[in-house]
Amino acid sequence: MEKEDILAWLRTTDENELIKLWQMADQVRQQNVGQEVHLRGLIEISNICVRKCGYCGLNIENTAIGRYRMTEDEIVECAHEAASFGYGTVVMQAGEDHGIATEWMTGLIQRIKRETSLAVTLSLGERTDEEYQTWFAAGADRYLLRFETSNRTLYDRIHPPLAGQPSDRIALLRRLKQIGYETGSGVMIGIPGQTYDDLANDILMFRELDLDMIGVGPYIPHQATFLGNPELTTYADKTVQVPNSEEMTYKTIALSRLVCPRANIPSTTALATVNTESGRELGLSRGANIVMPNVTPRKYRALYEIYPSKACIDETASDCRSCMSRRILSIGRTIGTGRGDSPNRAKHRE
Ligand code: SAM
Repeated sequence: MEKEDILAWLRTTDENELIKLWQMADQVRQQNVGQEVHLRGLIEISNICVRKCGYCGLNIENTAIGRYRMTEDEIVECAHEAASFGYGTVVMQAGEDHGIATEWMTGLIQRIKRETSLAVTLSLGERTDEEYQTWFAAGADRYLLRFETSNRTLYDRIHPPLAGQPSDRIALLRRLKQIGYETGSGVMIGIPGQTYDDLANDILMFRELDLDMIGVGPYIPHQATFLGNPELTTYADKTVQVPNSEEMTYKTIALSRLVCPRANIPSTTALATVNTESGRELGLSRGANIVMPNVTPRKYRALYEIYPSKACIDETASDCRSCMSRRILSIGRTIGTGRGDSPNRAKHRE
């Protein structure tokens, strides 16, 4: 698929054409990653963040939220709960929290690997090369780092670098892959200032990076961010600006499946937030094959407010598990067993 084809799909409003896109994506998903939907238990281990991202409610300047960092025992308990639910993976995600020390994280990874058979995914933002290597050596299997947008100017605007430390997530992703991680990335759909051309380039970048995992979701404005001010939307011209809509998210999921047939693609919480009724199921029917039920203790969930009205914040881990299982089975899919590794894993580790 070439850029012109991607652009044509992103711009089409023809219902019949879109049905074709959903069917193609579903077929390619079935042929390449099968009927199983793998469940990854998500633990939001800290909401402390040093960054000033213009989209994210965890940004350091938001003083309206209480901050937390879970203890090692709390996290390990969540990992055991995930294992008891039959999940094959835990994803430990956090703001960019420099209080998460290298050695502490190393010990935590080693403990989870020793006490469970779970695959371990990290999503801790931009850390040093040494940390990435140390955590991989400690047993971490996968790393998720969204590049957010492939448009460098837009990226610099929405994701200001830390003083004296240029931020290049695309370079970091290449490095993570070289270290041996199964590597995941993604973008937000409809960031103010994101053009159709940008989104087409993002999808091509997924292919160029040969990603193992691709997570995309609609951008949801948060009032405690500088992008949350609607007057700052750069392209009021709707023929240029990508909408942060549900449909645009399905298109991006479907196109990601077509350009990266073997990738693991989640039907994300942001999608479930814009359509609580059936967003997860529609994502799964239009190219996705992963869901990430939340196993974070309930007392912390509302504090991990990257965007407002986030789905699933009032549920227990057990509620999330039942809800996800019901949704998966309702669309005739099966619940994945095992770790749900990337089909490319063996290739990366040669
Ligand atoms: N700190 C780590 C990082 O930056 O990679 C992981 C946590 S970060 C909160 C996880 C992802 O949430 C980001 O990569 C971003 O794509 C998404 N996100 C943040 N704010 C969002 C918003 N307002 N709408 C939609 N997604 C958002």
